[in-house]
Amino acid sequence: MSDQGMNESRMVHGDKITKVTTHLSQNEALLFERSSPGKKAYQLPELDVPAVDAAEALGAENVRAEITDFPEVSEVEAIRHFTRLSTWNYAIDYGMYPLGSCTMKYNPRINEVVARTEGLAWAHPYQPESLSQGCLEVMEHLENALAEICGMDAVTLQPAAGAHGELTGILLIRALLEKRGNPRKKILIPDSAHGTNPATAAIAGYAVENIKSSETGGVDLAALEQLVTSDVAALMVTNPNTLGVFENNIVRVAEILHKKGAMLYMDGANMNALVGIARPGDFGVDVMHLNLHKTFSTPHGGGGPGAGPVAVKKVLEPFLPTPRLRRSGKKLTFDYKRKHSIGRVKSYYGNFGVLVRALAYILAHGGPGLKNATMDAVLNAVYIRKALEPYFDLPYKSPNMHEVVFSDDRQSKLGVRTGDIAKRLIDYGFHPYTVSFPMIVHGALMIEPTETEGRLEIDSFINAMIAIAGECETDPQMVKNAPYNTRTSRVDEVTAARKPVLRWKP
Ligand SMILES: *Cc1c(COP(=O)(O)O)cnc(C)c1O
Repeated sequence: MSDQGMNESRMVHGDKITKVTTHLSQNEALLFERSSPGKKAYQLPELDVPAVDAAEALGAENVRAEITDFPEVSEVEAIRHFTRLSTWNYAIDYGMYPLGSCTMKYNPRINEVVARTEGLAWAHPYQPESLSQGCLEVMEHLENALAEICGMDAVTLQPAAGAHGELTGILLIRALLEKRGNPRKKILIPDSAHGTNPATAAIAGYAVENIKSSETGGVDLAALEQLVTSDVAALMVTNPNTLGVFENNIVRVAEILHKKGAMLYMDGANMNALVGIARPGDFGVDVMHLNLHKTFSTPHGGGGPGAGPVAVKKVLEPFLPTPRLRRSGKKLTFDYKRKHSIGRVKSYYGNFGVLVRALAYILAHGGPGLKNATMDAVLNAVYIRKALEPYFDLPYKSPNMHEVVFSDDRQSKLGVRTGDIAKRLIDYGFHPYTVSFPMIVHGALMIEPTETEGRLEIDSFINAMIAIAGECETDPQMVKNAPYNTRTSRVDEVTAARKPVLRWKP
């Protein structure tokens, strides 16, 4: 811990209080270390049925007499242990989470309340259809809402995440082209793409060909014209792209592809910039995925469940995963007999709880509310861009939408890299922005505020960034050693990735 770092941050802030300071408890023992024999966090009522010998009932080989080193603690010790640990994490409920490309918006509690409604939370996927009509209606309603938002004809809710949606979408394209006689060999992907795009294409059996971005950060039309041959199955494009820049030529891009019998796949992870304003189906997209856990308010991070619905134009509908929802009159059923379907991509029908949250979010906002959220998301990002442009290098000057990408060009001349600035931001009480992505920006600082931040929070983020830019000039070494206000400062990231220690051993 460097006192200098702490004082510095206090000084810069004057009499303003930084939001997050030293954590409640710096030294929390493991539960194993707190354990002492015989302690219990529970009390069971007296047994009022005949006792059964477990070894006899289950077979001795399936029963352990003793779990070696199993921690034994009291209720209050267990509660305090986990409550203290929870204070070591940053969370959207603490403050702004400006991770670009991730759309870490605040999730209104009402969506959680709706997802916990008894009939929805306790429904079983193997319940008969006649007893699941309400759940099926939620799914039908969401499919229709997403189709309307995207300007597409049909939606599958099965895929469990964005990358899973990408794979589903590319398999749909492959199935259609195969039926037309030739699945083709290549997928074109801009150099600004998210890493999941080339990974998806490869897993779906395609070769990946990169397209360089133009000066302004968009798809280079001349390069595209040259690269689209009869071998190309599709272009995968993110719009707005990972620089936060809208593809102004998207209609032209679609025309070039369609003329050669290729398709346009849109990575919809950035739909938070478009919802209620522009519809991909209207600008030529054939198939796309959405990240409900980004745009439609499901909490994410920490590996929780997500959902990556895929929306398609009519020609791709016959290939969608089985089963499909069908309505006959008042009744909803699942249709399993679909001879062109690519098959199932997930057990059951998708991550239902996530679907409920998304529908609650969409209905609570309504059309005008969704449009408003999009406008606020863009306004917030443009506001940050204008405020930080004098302090950080902005490699692509095209108007940005819901996020903005700076580079560490100026600070790296002083020996401070984007990762150092991100670590220092932690001392000011903010989660770091996205570091070093997209790859076409050297030393990228990718910032996405989302619509859920108000002006006070954004101004305090901007002030923190400006203060750090100043520190890079006056004391670069101090920034390079940040953070100071956390339990651990820097970890050895290489060893953590290569030789992770995932288990405590006695
Ligand atoms: C988040 C993201 C993905 C992947 O989505 P997951 O739900 O994490 O699988 C793909 N593309 C872009 C541009 C993204 O931001």
